[in-house]
Amino acid sequence: MSAGLVVVGAGIVGASVAYHAARAGAAVTLLDAGRPGAGVTADSFAWIGASGVRTGPAAALRATATEEYRRLETELPGLPVTWSGSLSWGAAGGAPQVGPGQEIVDAATVAALEPTLRRPPEWAVWAPGDGAVDPVGVTERLVAGARAHGARVRPDTPVTAVRRDAAGRVAGVETAAGPLSGATVVLAAGVATAALGATIGIRVPVDPSPATLFRFRAPAGLVRTVVTNRDFDLRQVAADRLIAAADSPERTLAAVRSTFRGAADVELLSARVRPRPMPADGEPIVGPVAEVPGLYVAALHAAVTLAPAVGRLVARELIDGAAEPLLAGCRLDRF
Ligand SMILES: Cc1cc2nc3c(=O)[nH]c(=O)nc-3n(C[C@H](O)[C@H](O)[C@H](O)COP(=O)(O)OP(=O)(O)OC[C@H]3O[C@@H](n4cnc5c(N)ncnc54)[C@H](O)[C@@H]3O)c2cc1C
Repeated sequence: MSAGLVVVGAGIVGASVAYHAARAGAAVTLLDAGRPGAGVTADSFAWIGASGVRTGPAAALRATATEEYRRLETELPGLPVTWSGSLSWGAAGGAPQVGPGQEIVDAATVAALEPTLRRPPEWAVWAPGDGAVDPVGVTERLVAGARAHGARVRPDTPVTAVRRDAAGRVAGVETAAGPLSGATVVLAAGVATAALGATIGIRVPVDPSPATLFRFRAPAGLVRTVVTNRDFDLRQVAADRLIAAADSPERTLAAVRSTFRGAADVELLSARVRPRPMPADGEPIVGPVAEVPGLYVAALHAAVTLAPAVGRLVARELIDGAAEPLLAGCRLDRF
């Protein structure tokens, strides 16, 4: 199965699949309708939120996210990852609850972690192992890594359909530039995965779920960790830049200004609403499509967190043919 692997979509998911498969010796072609990383990945808050998840089919997978990023950093030196930890407070429901990788900290500790807070909360959940990434930078490194291991990368090549042979097996894809054959096709096209599956009658229940990323001009050193509360998910991405995942521009700006000292001049630069690929039950859809031998799907939310793990495991399933236990709860046939 290592010959002729076509990966459709060079977001962070497809790039990770292509990198890991090429590194493991597969002959990979990675296609994207546009530029790698320019899909929803480009406007992700990009928090590696591995801590605190205890339940659900992907809980064990998610628990590996931090160590998978640490591994990837050793394979791709200079990967743009920041290990800042995350601080959360103000969740509804009263009594603080912590999960794996989290601890409760008091106001003095919160103030030490975020010195510009005007009124540190009495307690917060601190996840010291959490981090965040430059999602486009990570995608570009994965694509470069795939190329370095022999993958062919074809941007600006929209795939219009999946091809099957007379026996019903995958035979490759149709693209705007003509057909491309391949014994295995991985659909990692984010929100477009459902439409591509539909070209051969396969239902992949993934819908667009809009979320907004705000970019702000802000003073250096205003925010040190990933801060999440009822108003926003917020982090500093450069000396003069903050990003936030939140709902309303006015409310978010007002909340940032009132939460931090020295934030009076924080200025909104942009608000981008992007559709996240959201499986019908919220859990990842990763695995082979039983009805079409050779076809494989990787469509998930929180894919920045999970991309290194999913890419490595998918590559192993495709190349070794073994079912990875961590992906057992993620199969398409659960629907
Ligand atoms: C505001 C916001 C905040 C978020 N915060 C987080 C977070 O903190 N942590 C986290 O883990 N996740 C977060 N997410 C979700 C995360 O960004 C997504 O889960 C992830 O980027 C999805 O990656 P992807 O590769 O599946 O999709 P995409 O990045 O959309 O990639 C799909 C690619 O497929 C290509 N494509 C589509 N159709 C075709 C076709 N027909 N032919 C060829 N190519 C095609 C597209 O051009 C695109 O490049 C957030 C998202 C948003 C919007």
